[in-house]
Amino acid sequence: MGSKKYTTIISILFIILLMSTNKQKNEIFPGLVPAPAYIEFVDSKLQIEETIRMDYNPKDKNLKNMIRLAKSELSDIGYKPSDSNSNQEQTRLSIRVDQNISKTPESYRLKIDPQGIEITGSDHAGTFYGIQTLLQILETSKIENAPTVKSMIIEDSPRFKWRGMMLDVARHMFPADFIKRYIDIIAAHKMNVFHWHLTEDQGWRMPIEKYPKLESIAAWRKETLIGHYTDKPRKFDGKPYGGFYTREEITDIIAYAKERSVTIVPEIELPGHATAALSAYPELSCTGGPHEAETLWGVHKEVYCAGNEETFVFLENVLKEVSEIFPGPYIHIGGDECPKTRWKECQKCQKRIADVGLKDEHELQSYFIKRIEKILEKFGKRLVGWDEILEGGLAPNAIVHSWRGMDGGIEAANAGHEVIMSPTTHVYFDYYQSKDKDNEPLAIGGHLPLSKVYKFEPVPDNIDSDKRHLILGGQANLWTEYIPTIEKAEYMLLPRMCALAEAVWSPRSKKDYNGFIKRLGDHLKRLDRKHLNYRKLDK
Ligand SMILES: [Zn+2]
Repeated sequence: MGSKKYTTIISILFIILLMSTNKQKNEIFPGLVPAPAYIEFVDSKLQIEETIRMDYNPKDKNLKNMIRLAKSELSDIGYKPSDSNSNQEQTRLSIRVDQNISKTPESYRLKIDPQGIEITGSDHAGTFYGIQTLLQILETSKIENAPTVKSMIIEDSPRFKWRGMMLDVARHMFPADFIKRYIDIIAAHKMNVFHWHLTEDQGWRMPIEKYPKLESIAAWRKETLIGHYTDKPRKFDGKPYGGFYTREEITDIIAYAKERSVTIVPEIELPGHATAALSAYPELSCTGGPHEAETLWGVHKEVYCAGNEETFVFLENVLKEVSEIFPGPYIHIGGDECPKTRWKECQKCQKRIADVGLKDEHELQSYFIKRIEKILEKFGKRLVGWDEILEGGLAPNAIVHSWRGMDGGIEAANAGHEVIMSPTTHVYFDYYQSKDKDNEPLAIGGHLPLSKVYKFEPVPDNIDSDKRHLILGGQANLWTEYIPTIEKAEYMLLPRMCALAEAVWSPRSKKDYNGFIKRLGDHLKRLDRKHLNYRKLDK
């Protein structure tokens, strides 16, 4: 009996020990979102002075831009950034790029000890993320009025290379200043792709020099639906709605994103969701028109005629200009929800099917996408499309953006294609955030609470193990049928994007919802300072 009791006591002690080491292992600095891959606390402290002396190589132009942004943030938090070494009390902050610290792109090392703070990035993006982490640490210290910060070492790198956030500016348009704010939010969460959904049935938002009617006609609809699509009877506001970004605004936004390590992926929808373009150039539709930009949401039957060579001339010219303006390697071409009604009735489309020897209209869609892929390759761009591009045969180098669940992504990866996961179940931010829909602003439907976004796992279990590396990452989408204002866009985005950031940045082993919610509490105070309109956490 005695020895049994002894064993029990030993076991209990062992479990307590195990729990405490585990706790230490999972300890993350308050307010850090997303959680870093590795953090270790050291038993000493750094005194944080009001003046932060920045030590960096001013000849590095990219770094200098980054320092400028960091200084502005530090001032907003309440510190005084300075380049000069003076006699007054200062905290030293050294920021540099050194590719020797890690072979992984976008990595950084952050060291805090009594001597000061050091940030070293494996590249400029890594350095930028190190700065974001430090800003979170310093702001939390400021909020808590802490004169010191614990010594620590953080070694961090992203789990995925594609960490995306989409914004639909076609159903509702948002001013260029808000696009920049959106990019700021993305970058501060260590996300790196802004997918800009620029064209739709209800409006075309990018000027193309060769086709001025895209600005004068396709950018405008005569009115907008009030209330929900399912309301009976439907009501419209009777007010013309529209607009477009100028070329200067777009160029400015691209430069803004680049300084924040964000790549913009523009989306030009085809062959469906094209009614607005067809209202300006009806000769590219199967019927020849006339058409009007849609006032109702949903899927519409007017699509580009796949039998008309002029369609491909138009799209090639459009994509040429888009490729010239956007320096990133990817162009999204949509490819989703393309009804085949018109193609079935169209003599030209039917002739194309016969001439090329296609089986049906699904193969005609595949023919369409493959031609567009060839055009994009000519301009040095990779094609990205929603998972419908799998139907009728996938274009050889296309990246599949899986939105109707994960199955399309699994199928594409197993066939050797690169994939981005964006399932409606976990990352459609136009869905309701609570089941209590009466107390939430009008949304498209669904139910996607913060906890479910946190569970988003871009690499599904049922994918072949040698194909997992083809999952480039994950992305959430903000469709704006029911989001007419900036305030509402922010409300639908936050704090769900904070959970998404952790799903695409942090290692799977670091995922801990309770810990996340605790850290999020401090992080939300940062969003308050920036006057961002987020949904309050449930009690
Ligand atoms: Zn046709």
